[in-house]
Amino acid sequence: MISTDPSPGRVLVTGATGFIAMNCVLQLLQRGYQVRGTLRELSRASALRSTLAQHVDANDRLELVRADLLSDDGWESAVSGCDYVLHIASPVPLKLPKNEDELIIPARDGTMRVLRATAAAGVKRVVLTSSIDAAIQGHAVQKKQFTEDDWSNLDVKLTAYQKSKTLAELAAWHFVNQPDNVNLEMAVINPGFVFGPVMDSEFRSSSEPIRKLMLREVPGLGRIMFPLADVRDVASAHLKAMVHPDAAGKRFFCVGSICSLEEIALILDNHFSGRGYRVPTRVLPDFLFRVVGLFDSSVRLVIPDLNKPQDISTERIRTVLGWEPRSQQEAIISMAESMIKHGLI
Ligand code: NAP
Repeated sequence: MISTDPSPGRVLVTGATGFIAMNCVLQLLQRGYQVRGTLRELSRASALRSTLAQHVDANDRLELVRADLLSDDGWESAVSGCDYVLHIASPVPLKLPKNEDELIIPARDGTMRVLRATAAAGVKRVVLTSSIDAAIQGHAVQKKQFTEDDWSNLDVKLTAYQKSKTLAELAAWHFVNQPDNVNLEMAVINPGFVFGPVMDSEFRSSSEPIRKLMLREVPGLGRIMFPLADVRDVASAHLKAMVHPDAAGKRFFCVGSICSLEEIALILDNHFSGRGYRVPTRVLPDFLFRVVGLFDSSVRLVIPDLNKPQDISTERIRTVLGWEPRSQQEAIISMAESMIKHGLI
């Protein structure tokens, strides 16, 4: 537990109950910041405080306030007096929604609400959590290495989540590039799939692949590549992008390594088979995995990624921010261990 005095500043973190946001709140508190987190339901505040208290002594440095991405209410006061904003909240679905607007409207319009309030409050810098899905999707030929200059192709059919992240990030850059908003700096973190330890017993979408494998809820594996990162490293990337002088105006692909679903399953099998877990390790032909997707909505979500090679440059985040991610083994095993500890599997 680290505590510094005086505080290096006050940071607004949106969606503080989320997997990534909770880790950002924790790291900010450990570094001595004052943190104001937004929640959709204030009834969850005491559970969040108890979870964080297991890792850090926040004293009176943590404030929790109510704000919803679907409403203007509360954003102006939430941002007031903050030096930085980490805008992380956005819906992350477990299955594709019937209507894509269920994701697009909170993602894009919510981002605009946060940014308008942030610009008006004279905040130094906002860090937006986008996704690798805002950059690498919808390209017919995936022969090249993706860099931060790439954008997902909105002219072809993308999933509602991919569309929500692409539209939200495009809208954010459009906003900060307006002449009226030149004083607001923005950096964007584009994480790949986020693994790493969960801090409580709430089930969240990012735990689904590990849960399914550990509980053998799929008969076999699809040929899918996961650009992945550990949640602790994703949080540290946000904190670095918040203060690094060269981060303003840049997007950062936040990917520790690219790992096949088979590699993930083998890591879990090697580590947990002795404790009675029967992780599936057989790779299914594509047509069979598509059939599994017909009956399983969370498998259906990854069918568009079937057989897509992923080549993603992470040079910028490593050179500009000095980001050094943990190994994929650590990210995968720590997530499964924490899910066992919290009774999720
Ligand atoms: P998460 O645990 O599901 O957290 C999402 C957060 O967004 C929750 O706090 C949720 O609040 C909040 N939220 C959703 N709809 C909202 C609304 N209408 N108003 C206010 N808050 C709302 O997901 P996560 O994995 O931490 O993801 C956080 C961010 O990282 C998202 O922007 C996501 O797109 C991005 N990202 C995640 C991954 C990944 O693999 N996890 C990868 C790339 C990018 P409640 O707790 O009240 O639901």
